[in-house]
Amino acid sequence: MNSVFLKKNEERRLLAGHLWIYSNEIDTKVSPLKNFHPGELITIKTARNKDLGVGYINPNTLLCVRLLTLDPQEKIDCAFFISRIKQALALRKLCFTKPFYRLIFGESDQLPGLVVDRFNNVLVAQLNTTGMENLKELIVEALVHVLDPSSILWRNSSSIRATENLPNYIETAYGEPPEQVELEENNIRFIAAIKEGQKTGWFYDQRNNRACLAPYVKDKSVLDVCSYSGGFGINAAVYGAQSVACVDASEFALNQLKQNAELNGLGNKIETICADAFQALKDLRTSQKLFDVIILDPPAFIKRRKDIEIGTNAYLRLHRLALKILQPSGILITTSCSLHLSRDMLLDVLRQAMLQENRNATVIEQLHQAQDHPVHPAITETDYLKGFIVRVL
Ligand code: SAH
Repeated sequence: MNSVFLKKNEERRLLAGHLWIYSNEIDTKVSPLKNFHPGELITIKTARNKDLGVGYINPNTLLCVRLLTLDPQEKIDCAFFISRIKQALALRKLCFTKPFYRLIFGESDQLPGLVVDRFNNVLVAQLNTTGMENLKELIVEALVHVLDPSSILWRNSSSIRATENLPNYIETAYGEPPEQVELEENNIRFIAAIKEGQKTGWFYDQRNNRACLAPYVKDKSVLDVCSYSGGFGINAAVYGAQSVACVDASEFALNQLKQNAELNGLGNKIETICADAFQALKDLRTSQKLFDVIILDPPAFIKRRKDIEIGTNAYLRLHRLALKILQPSGILITTSCSLHLSRDMLLDVLRQAMLQENRNATVIEQLHQAQDHPVHPAITETDYLKGFIVRVL
């Protein structure tokens, strides 16, 4: 294996548990980047020529190296992946009784660039880096060894792939993956379209936040904004909401939602509105509709650091529109998966929205990603989902 030499002291973050090396942390005089192929496995060395570990490199990206192991002797083979997957599985088994969860959450499970969601015996996986893409056969072999799944699907499409010049594609990795799978969450059944749905077909990260709805929705009118296939809305209906309206721009997602409502015998309780969220909220206001509970779970408005201002403004506009149609003493549930919008920034959005809409509010619960998306304390980037349950006077 070729070696990458770090500049003096640049190993500190890695020794604390982070897995990323940026190109400016590499001593390119000693190890010029042009000598490496994208995705190549490399040994990482300190400025003093001490072996630090093994990782993979992409010389064309700013985030240049991802560390796979701090043991310089460890081989990156099937046994390596089996051991990592077993470790990840043990955590999920500790937290969940049923086999429906994110099995591998990239960096947090020490498998940077890899995501695997488990729907019982069907696995849906995503490779986000050239380094992991090059190891895909080993990954499939290891997943089959540990879990004996009936099928595995690659959902290799993400914005991160574009930064590595990787093409997006969906492909069978093993067996014959079905179009859709059934899953169970909070004792509720759902179907997820693993091939045509968004991301891997299901957003497991919101599981606990959906369960948090229970005390607030009984006999209430609920509006689920950016509902996708009904994660929040169906939970609300099961917990006894009087009515649930779900807004999403994707007709495909809303068709999934209708199937999920039928599956749970809730067909008559749930209405769908296929529209842009901002427009739908304005239209609801025009028709003078008010809701007791409103859930906001928009897509990441801030994908890159340079979108912070525009994205934060979008969050603010969405919150203001929601407040205009929220009953007095209503409940607002707001979440954001934008890495670049911190918890404090989301709270600030709330503060500004309240001020501008002349409402008063208290945060009664703080929301976070579920246990199958563990946060690594040294890798702040793994802590991405934040939210609040707010009582609005
Ligand atoms: N709340 C969902 C996940 C939401 S993901 C759950 O619990 O599973 C974000 C959703 O926002 C996607 O379904 C996407 O189709 C939708 N979306 C994106 N932009 C939108 C817009 N401008 N208006 C309405 N929906 C939008």
